[in-house]
Amino acid sequence: MTKKAPLVMIPGPTPVAEPVRQAMAVQTYGHNYSGFVEIYRECLSGLKTIFQADHMVVIGGSGTLAMEMTLINTVKAGQDLLVVSHGAFGDRFAAIAKVLGINADVLSCPPGSRVPLAEIEKALASKRYAAMTLTHVDTSTGVLAQAKEVGELAKKYDVLYILDGVCASAGVPEPMKDYGIDVIVTTCQKAFGTPPGLTMIAFNEKAAARRDELGTVPGYYTDWKNWMPIMENPSLYISTPPVNHIVALNEAVKLILAEGLEARYARHERIGRSFRAGLAALGLETVTEKEALAPTLSVVKYPPNVDDAAFRAKVEENGVFIAGALGPLKGKAFRVGHMGIIGMDEIAITLTAIERALTALGVQVTPGAAVGAAWQEWDSVRAAQGCACCCCGE
Ligand SMILES: *Cc1c(COP(=O)(O)O)cnc(C)c1O
Repeated sequence: MTKKAPLVMIPGPTPVAEPVRQAMAVQTYGHNYSGFVEIYRECLSGLKTIFQADHMVVIGGSGTLAMEMTLINTVKAGQDLLVVSHGAFGDRFAAIAKVLGINADVLSCPPGSRVPLAEIEKALASKRYAAMTLTHVDTSTGVLAQAKEVGELAKKYDVLYILDGVCASAGVPEPMKDYGIDVIVTTCQKAFGTPPGLTMIAFNEKAAARRDELGTVPGYYTDWKNWMPIMENPSLYISTPPVNHIVALNEAVKLILAEGLEARYARHERIGRSFRAGLAALGLETVTEKEALAPTLSVVKYPPNVDDAAFRAKVEENGVFIAGALGPLKGKAFRVGHMGIIGMDEIAITLTAIERALTALGVQVTPGAAVGAAWQEWDSVRAAQGCACCCCGE
């Protein structure tokens, strides 16, 4: 018998709901079989509803491909791009821009904080940028960006606004039209709760027009203009889509819409707060400033003298798989994802594993305090809402 794999609590891939996992195992349809074409259409249409998108492109790939593809389709070599970076994933846009010959001006800040809106406005006022990027949730620092407020600035300065939703989409609201977002780059293995393997891009007419203005772009598979007719009519062909993956994503999208977007976003907020109440009971603090805490993951500082590798090995011995930190935080913090289908069962198991790992490494904690505090926070939300409530299914 093989050993049971630990519960996956990293910020992607995340646990996969049973109907989604089963959908991966359907017979592999011909990509132009009418039954599959219908599923592809249904999936794209559901995603358009989630994002208020005019256009959706969903193809084989990853989140990083969505970032690269978006820059290829919206900014030319030699043009200026404003990158607002709250960590490693913000910086990734600058790295991609560099290889594409795009000039990136990067606004950054200390890990865990946000670039002030005034600083973004100052940059936008100083230069005519072809586009700007913002990371909705930077998975390296746990920072939730001010996506809506930045949208107002993008509108004021008439700059194409690209949002990296990879660690936020389907867990944090991203209504493109309401927020003035022109492009959302995302993928399926984070809050969508689908096995990794898809590049997902939502965009509006303004971004489509920008692609047209560019003429030829340095890509073929990555030219979204090649894909747009296929997204309208998936029986057409340019390159074979990952058939089973799209069937699975469609199941995930159906689950998301059935839960309801408002309820789902409220659930993510509440789960994040409950997990962090548990951490606080263990004396642990987040790297992230209080007002910038993401609902989808937590980046947590180690107490003095706790070794990163030893701690994560102990957590894994207790059945839970968590992530180390990136860049300047490496060795100083650990990361836990709490998005997609993760609920209080998983939070309780994870807090228990963290508590046991700390105890094993000689940190004094009160047994059971974390799980108790997490439930108390969870129940307080219900009390506050007088719960005939939409968000907890009770
Ligand atoms: C995970 C992540 C990415 C990269 O996605 P991949 O699918 O691993 O390429 C990009 N941006 C953010 C914010 C992420 O969390």
